[in-house]
Order: sequence, then C-alpha cells, then structure tokens
Amino acid sequence: MTANACAGRLFGDHFLSRLNVDEQAMVANVRRLARDALGPRAAEVAQRDVFAWDNFRLLAREGVIGTAFPREYGGTDARQVLRIRIIEELGRVCSASASLVTGADLSCRAIVAGASDDNKARLLPALCRGDIQAAFALTEPGAGSDVRGLSTTIRREGDDYVINGRKKFITRGTTADWFMVVGRAAHDPSCFIAVLVPRDAAGFAISPEVGKLGWAGVPISSLQFKDVRAQVSDRLGAEGDGFDLAQDALIRARMGHASMALGRAIGAVEIAAAYMVDRKLFGKSLGEHQGAQWMVADMVTQLEAARALVHLAAEKYDSGDPDAGIFASMAKLQATDLGMKVVTDALQLTGGRGYLQDFPLERFFRDAKLNQIGEGSSEVHKTVIGRDAIRRVRTLERHPCLKFESLENY
Ligand SMILES: Cc1cc2nc3c(=O)[nH]c(=O)nc-3n(C[C@H](O)[C@H](O)[C@H](O)COP(=O)(O)OP(=O)(O)OC[C@H]3O[C@@H](n4cnc5c(N)ncnc54)[C@H](O)[C@@H]3O)c2cc1C
Repeated sequence: MTANACAGRLFGDHFLSRLNVDEQAMVANVRRLARDALGPRAAEVAQRDVFAWDNFRLLAREGVIGTAFPREYGGTDARQVLRIRIIEELGRVCSASASLVTGADLSCRAIVAGASDDNKARLLPALCRGDIQAAFALTEPGAGSDVRGLSTTIRREGDDYVINGRKKFITRGTTADWFMVVGRAAHDPSCFIAVLVPRDAAGFAISPEVGKLGWAGVPISSLQFKDVRAQVSDRLGAEGDGFDLAQDALIRARMGHASMALGRAIGAVEIAAAYMVDRKLFGKSLGEHQGAQWMVADMVTQLEAARALVHLAAEKYDSGDPDAGIFASMAKLQATDLGMKVVTDALQLTGGRGYLQDFPLERFFRDAKLNQIGEGSSEVHKTVIGRDAIRRVRTLERHPCLKFESLENY
C-alpha cells in the first residue's frame, strides 16, 4: 500500500490491501484529487449549483470516469471493489464529484451491456473521455419506488420506435447528449424496452433544472416525449430486456450510493473529531467528555461494520455471485441510513458551527438525505431484503432446535 493512500484515515485503510498495485495507485490519485482540487472547491460547487463541469472534466482526464468502461472502448473496466473505494474517497469531500462517478454506471451501464456494436464503438469512447454524456431515464410521475408502474409507451413503426410519456427527476437532463429511456411496448405492456434517444429528437422536451435540497452540482430535470422517434437499431438489448438492463445499472449504482454515504460519513466524523479536539468547554476539550466520546465510538464502529458489508457486496458482484443484488440492497440500506445518522450526530457534536453554511457539515447533512431515497428508498430495500429472507427460509433445512413439523400450533 502506498503511504499516501491512507494518510488522514482515523483507522488506516485495511481494504486497500485487497487491491492490486494499479488499483491502489488509482485510489491514491483520487485521494490526491480530493485533497488538492475537489475538496477545496466543494463548497463553491454546491453554492453555484450548476453542473460541475470542472470536476467532471478533471475526473474524466484522470481516468476516473473511465473506470466504469470496458478496456476496448478506452476504459479500465475496474472491479467494483475499486469503484466503491474511489466513490468513498470522493464522497468524503464532495457528493457532486462522487455522483459523477456513480452516475457513469447509472447512465452508461446499459449501453455497455446492451447497445449494438456500432453504437458501442460510436458512443462509449466519447462517454469514457467525458466528451459526451448520457442520462438514465426510468422514473416517472406515476412510477418511482414502484417502477413497474411505468406508463411511457414505445410503439414500433417500421425501423423506428415512437415514444410517448413523461419522466421526472432525471439527473443530467440538461447536459446529457443521449438518454436511456425505459418504457412499455405499446403492443404488450408486460414487455419493457430500453432505447437510446438523442437530446435533439423532435418532440423531446427537457425542463429547466429543478431546485433541490442537496447534491448541488448534479442537476435534475423532467422529460416529455410526444411522438418522439428513436431508431430500432438504438435499442438496448432485445425487446423485453429493458427492465433487466435497468436493474443491472441500478445494482452498481446502489453500491455507489452506499460508498458515497460511507465516505461522507467518514469525512463528517473526521471534521467533528477535529472540532472536539479544539473546542474547550467545562474545563476540558469536548473530546475528553465521555458522552461525546461514546457518540464517536458508535459512529466509527458502525461505519467500519458498514464498510465491510459494502466491500462484501462489491466482491460478490465482481465474482458474479447471484446474491450480489441482494447484498447491494443490504449495503445501500445499511450505509445510507447510517450515513444520515452519522452526519446528523457529527453536526450535533459541532454545535452552532455545524449549522452554519460556511462549515462543511451543513452541506454534508443536506447531501446525505438523497442516498436514502435515490436508486430505491430505504423502505423499498427493506421490503426487498425481507421478502428475500423469508423466501430463503422456506427452502432451508429446519432449525435443529425446532421439534414440530408445523409451528402454527406450537
Ligand atoms: C436528486 C434525484 C436524482 C434522481 N435521479 C434519477 C435519475 O437519474 N433517473 C431516474 O430514473 N430516477 C432518478 N431519481 C428518482 C429516484 O430514483 C426516485 O426518487 C426514488 O426511486 C423514489 O421514488 P419516488 O421519489 O417516486 O418516491 P415514491 O415512490 O413516491 O415513494 C415515496 C416514499 O414512500 C416510501 N415507500 C415506498 N415504497 C414503500 C413500501 N413498499 N413500503 C413502505 N414505504 C414505502 C419511501 O419512503 C419512499 O421514499 C432521482 C431522484 C432524485 C431526488
């Protein structure tokens, strides 16, 4: 491990040792970018609240965006165990920067997985270099948590698809060149189709950017499709693959949300702990008061446990384990709920300072909320995880301490 890579960490960085030398060098470089460029300008990015082009171009130039893309198209096809580390480093200082990296998965994964060879050759190198951008358009006014409620229709007419419907909350709506749009086949509502739509397509309207609580620097918009024509050759996967392609992108993006929440929470503890060392009250430093120490103890212990879970989810994804999806849900649920709690407690520990806009925790606090909502809210993941656990119990051998066949009349 390079010495620089874990400088400043409260407990060092044990997961780094599982990365190879090139991967460790990438983490060290991202840490350098976070320290020298992205961290110092994070408050300004948040204040301006327009797309963080400088950060995006820097991350593209340094090959960080390219970690999401295959080698044959100019990327480095990074393992998820590296991607989560990169996102954690960025989340520690700037949610917008972390989002630019997770967003590459969300908006481009389906193109990597499902575009025609021609489209891959045409789009992926430019997406990887950051010359163009894509957006992921799934959510609709009537379909957020319940994505199967989609009502956008995609009708085939010769070599074209005709798209009608609305999408909302679409990240990079104002900057994307291509939109991955998921809708239902007009002839068969059970058939989901994903197709690429260029931003200049006739009948396609993009709303102005919509104001929001946090994640400034990565704006969202609503989209409207009125008889928008897309080419059948721009479809992703086969007809019927739309939902699965979206899910694959979402699994990776959920691990991204988890890592971003962890990184931010780790940064929040570092900031709060530094304040506790400096702040004197009741005759000693805040850090010498047991009540405050216990708060920090809970934070760092739970954060390390959550990091282990996120890492495990990434390992499962990299090894093709079929449980990767459910572990991504668990990792997102655990890390994002904990992230919100840790940032709230860190702000509490810094008193009135933490509440002020020129202190970073105010921004961290506002940014933390979206991780619990986007890419499936915590409640949705609880539902998925709970349902999965009950399904597994049905197939397990009975627990050896249970005597009876049926437990109904126990
Ligand atoms: C800043 C931002 C960026 C986004 N970017 C994109 C994007 O790029 N592309 C895209 O397609 N979408 C995007 N989204 C949409 C995002 O994925 C949805 O907001 C999210 O999935 C939740 O859907 P919803 O907002 O419609 O909430 P709803 O579906 O209305 O749910 C509201 C709340 O109900 C609760 N809930 C839901 N289901 C259950 C249940 N079964 N049991 C108990 N409680 C439940 C949850 O607390 C949930 O938060 C973005 C959203 C935001 C805010």
